[in-house]
Amino acid sequence: MPILVMKFGGTSVADLTRIRAAAAKVRAEVARGHDVIVIVSAMAGRTNELVGWVNETSPMYDAREYDAVVSSGENVTAGLMALTLQEMDVPARSWQGWQVPIRTTSAHGAARIEGIDRAAIDAKFTEGFRVAVIAGFQGLSPEGRITTLGRGGSDTTAVAFAAAFEAIRCDIYTDVDGIYTTDPRISARARKLERISFEEMLELASLGAKVLQTRSVELAMRYKVRLRVLSSFEDTDETSGTLVCDEDEIMESKVVSGVAHSRDEAKLTLVTVEDRPGIAAAIFGPLAEAGVNVDMIVQNISEEAQGQDPREVTDMTFSCPTDQVARAQKALEAARDRGEIKYDKLEVDTEVSKVSVVGIGMRSHAGVAARMFAALAADGVNIKVIATSEIKISVLIDRKYMELAVQALHDAFDLDKAG
Ligand code: ADP
Ligand code: ASP
Ligand code: MG
Repeated sequence: MPILVMKFGGTSVADLTRIRAAAAKVRAEVARGHDVIVIVSAMAGRTNELVGWVNETSPMYDAREYDAVVSSGENVTAGLMALTLQEMDVPARSWQGWQVPIRTTSAHGAARIEGIDRAAIDAKFTEGFRVAVIAGFQGLSPEGRITTLGRGGSDTTAVAFAAAFEAIRCDIYTDVDGIYTTDPRISARARKLERISFEEMLELASLGAKVLQTRSVELAMRYKVRLRVLSSFEDTDETSGTLVCDEDEIMESKVVSGVAHSRDEAKLTLVTVEDRPGIAAAIFGPLAEAGVNVDMIVQNISEEAQGQDPREVTDMTFSCPTDQVARAQKALEAARDRGEIKYDKLEVDTEVSKVSVVGIGMRSHAGVAARMFAALAADGVNIKVIATSEIKISVLIDRKYMELAVQALHDAFDLDKAG
C-alpha cells in the first residue's frame, strides 16, 4: 500500500482533544487506502519546560543528559496517539527513536540522522497494522545513547521517514494553514503561498522561519520528498496548504518571495584586536569548538585605536543566538588568557534581531539591496550589520524595530500581491 507520512507539531497535539482531532485525520487517510507513518512532537510547551528544568538543574549541563530529559515529551504523545487510534479501531503501534532504531550522529542536542531501520515497521505493516506512530525529534547515537535533533527536529524526523519509506508525500500539519510570505503572526498582510521552491524555503528556514526545521528542507531537497505544510485545525484535502517543490514547478516570478526574522540574536564586538594573519582563525576557532553558531561577521577599522597604530588593530564584530553569548564570552576570555588573542574589550548587545529578504529572483535582478535599505531608512530603522548571499539579504537591527521592519519590507516588495 502507498505510504503517507503525517507529522503533527506541538500545538496540534497540545491536549487529548487535539490528539483525537489529529488521529481523525490519520484515520481518514487510512480509509483512503494509505499506510501511514505518523510523526508526533511533544505537547505544546512541554519541550520548553523540559529545557528549563535542565538549565535550572545544571547550567553547564552534560548534553547526553539534556537529551535524555528533553526527548521525553515525544514519548508521551507517541503512546497517546497510538492509543487514540486504537480506540478508533485503527491498528496502530508506537515507536520511540531507539526502538526503530533511528541511527544518528553523537552530536547531542543537534544530532543528524544517519539511517532508519525499516525492518520492524515493515513487519508490522505486513502483519496488518495500518499506522506506525514515531516519537519525533529523537534518535540513537553509535554509543547507544538517546540523541535529539535540535529544536523543531520532528520536521526532520518526518522527512527522513518519508525518504526511507519512499512515501508518496510528507504532510506537516501545524497551527498555520501553509507557508506565508512572512510569519502571519507578525504581519496581517502575509499571503499564503501555493508553492515555494526548496531553495527559498531552505533560506527562509535557516534565517528564522521556524515553520520547518532547516535540516528537514535540506533532506527533502536531496531525496526529492514531496513536502507539504497544512493546517491541523481545518478540514484539509489534496489541494490544501503549501507545497515545497522544485523551482521549475512554480509559476510565481517575484524577485523577493519572503521575509524572515530571527528575534533572539546578539552582536558581539572585540574592540582593538591586533590585526595579523591568522587572527580570524584564532578568534573563530575557539568559538566553533565551544559550539557557538557564529552567523554574520564584519571586520572594521578600529575607532578606538588610542595610542596604537590603526594599521595594526581592527574591530571584529559577529552575531550569534542570545543563548550562546555566555559560552562565546567564556571561549574568548579563555583564548585571551592563553595568549592566543589580544583585545581591549568585548562589547555585547543582546537586544538585536535579524530580518532578511529571500528570493531566487535576486540572482538576476539588481537593486534589491537598495530598495530594502531605503524601506528601512524611511521607517527610521538603523542597520547595524549587513550580510548577503545569492538569494538573500540580511540585516541586524535593534529588536524593538523588528516587527516594524518585517512589515515595511513586506510592503516594499509588494508581497501581499501575487505576481
Ligand atoms: P509546530 O509546533 O507545528 O512544529 P512551529 O511553531 O514550529 O509549529 O511552526 C509554525 C509557526 O511558524 C507558525 O505558527 C508561525 O508563527 C511560524 N512561521 C514563521 N514564519 C512563517 C512563514 N513564513 N509561514 C508560516 N508560518 C511561519
Ligand atoms: N518538541 C521539539 C521542540 O519543541 C521538536 C519539535 O517540536 O519539532 O523543539
Ligand atoms: Mg516546529
